Amino acid sequence: MECEHGKLHQNTKSCRLDFQPLKPEHGGPYIGRMLVTTLDNPWYYMLRFDVGDFARLDEKQRCACGRNDGYIVTDIEGRWTNVTFDTDGHLITLNQLDKAISTLKDIDEYRLEQVEDKAYRLFLVTPKDHHDKLAKQAEAKLRQIYGKEAQTSIVLKRTCLRKIPANTPWLKPFSTAKMSRNI
Ligand SMILES: [Zn+2]
Repeated sequence: MECEHGKLHQNTKSCRLDFQPLKPEHGGPYIGRMLVTTLDNPWYYMLRFDVGDFARLDEKQRCACGRNDGYIVTDIEGRWTNVTFDTDGHLITLNQLDKAISTLKDIDEYRLEQVEDKAYRLFLVTPKDHHDKLAKQAEAKLRQIYGKEAQTSIVLKRTCLRKIPANTPWLKPFSTAKMSRNI
């Protein structure tokens, strides 16, 4: 549950949380998997259920709201099926990618595919026409995230709809990598 200070708190009465940190080169010890075991729900029992998201733990594990008896999470870093890797092989969560891409202006939607170890294809949907400038900015942003050696290709598409309402469900950030690594 989220508290008034914007942090997520484990409800220790209703669940046990096991945190499996990533290796340090991939963002550990504060980023990791969460395994949930339910304690008080007799008709819906989960045992070390992997919720499929990476969480970022609060580094001090203390919150001003005073709920300090369970794990404190500051950010959900995205599905582990959406992770990509930089050119040195370090893990990039969807949240890290999303924060970087969101600094680009006039993007309605994006999808990133890591097609090879050092090759990235970024699809951008934009309502604007300044495609060359946007493509250059996007390439620079990708190299900032994934490394100077990143081979990038940018595919730009014009938004079909004139105005897209906020919170449209399909406007979700998405990334995918075709390779697997021991993280
Ligand atoms: Zn709190």
